[in-house]
Amino acid sequence: MYDYDLLVVGSANADLVIGVERRPAAGETVLGSDLVVHPGGKGANQAVAAARLGARTALLARVGDDAHGRLLLDSQREAGVDTVGVLVGGAPTGVALITVDPSGDNSIVVSPGANGRLTPEDVRAAGSLFQASRVVSAQLEVPLESVAEAVRHLADGGRFVLNPSPPQALPAEVLAACDPLIVNEHEARVIAGTELGERPEDWAEALLALGPRSVVITLGARGALVAERAGARVRVPSVPVAAVDTTGAGDAFTAALAWRLGLGESLAQAAGYAARVGAAAVTRPGAQESFPTAEEVAAL
Ligand code: ATP
Repeated sequence: MYDYDLLVVGSANADLVIGVERRPAAGETVLGSDLVVHPGGKGANQAVAAARLGARTALLARVGDDAHGRLLLDSQREAGVDTVGVLVGGAPTGVALITVDPSGDNSIVVSPGANGRLTPEDVRAAGSLFQASRVVSAQLEVPLESVAEAVRHLADGGRFVLNPSPPQALPAEVLAACDPLIVNEHEARVIAGTELGERPEDWAEALLALGPRSVVITLGARGALVAERAGARVRVPSVPVAAVDTTGAGDAFTAALAWRLGLGESLAQAAGYAARVGAAAVTRPGAQESFPTAEEVAAL
């Protein structure tokens, strides 16, 4: 028996957002709105998304011993995430400094901070969390060598799901563990590392050739494509909704898919459910604030 449906290994950031009339040019100072601070980071987002759906979820991450770290711990606990694996200290909490202009265009500076100090040793020390978890999901806002260490600690029969964002070339060991590798178009092109045409089916073939057991390509309002090494290629339709803000849709999709796989659904079934979760998330502004409960998904 597993104690957790999902263990998320990843980043936790404070998103510091200021609205501006015009984003500053070099050497320029502009006045902006009051500061708004949101809990974010792909790891923290995925953990909240899963817990809100009802998954028994734990997060392995590192935050600073500071107010932003406490904000992140509080938001995880409020969503029902077990924070026993959240390490504190070593550097300030990761921060994204975001300016947004009236047209919605933004400029972002990220300080990885404590996320960059989540070491392979930290991952090894959390071995019991891995043994207690049916599915492990990761992204790439923490050091790649720590993600590589994570795949060495999966439970017997445990499953690994990776959203390689921000994208970079992946070692064969990590690729071989992915079941699935979940990418959007930009990530597919970077990970494949070769010219890709316009057909998502072709991107999936190129990615499968790198070694993952399965691939899921998210296509925004066009839904997703599921491809298993030994199975069919299945288009998963999106759910038509009035999109307000797509921030975090990919994180909600990945978390939901990882959870449903652990419940025993096929990849296509899990992706179908995840598409509903992604669709629900884009109907509300923000990232973590926009993630639906299972009841809201059922009502969609
Ligand atoms: P982000 O980086 O903004 O979090 P992403 O590029 O990783 O997102 P998307 O493909 O935009 O991921 O979204 C993930 C999934 O959410 C899609 O595969 C789709 O199922 C759902 N989704 C996203 N946008 C929409 C939309 N406008 N309408 C319906 N469903 C959507």
